Amino acid sequence: MKKHNIMIPKPRSNFVKIECESCQETMILYTYSTKTIQCKSCNAELVINTGGHAKILGKIIETMD
Ligand SMILES: [Zn+2]
Repeated sequence: MKKHNIMIPKPRSNFVKIECESCQETMILYTYSTKTIQCKSCNAELVINTGGHAKILGKIIETMD
């Protein structure tokens, strides 16, 4: 999978807006990410890879798919 910042209109696409519970920073993330994603502001882990599906640790405030 290549790194692209464009939305691909696939039925399984699942973007979520997540709020970091430590610093309230919000970010839009892809839930099928295969790597750990950290808050860009405080470096708290927001998404961890559990081997197949990402586990979201932050607070989901909006889903957009
Ligand atoms: Zn944070």
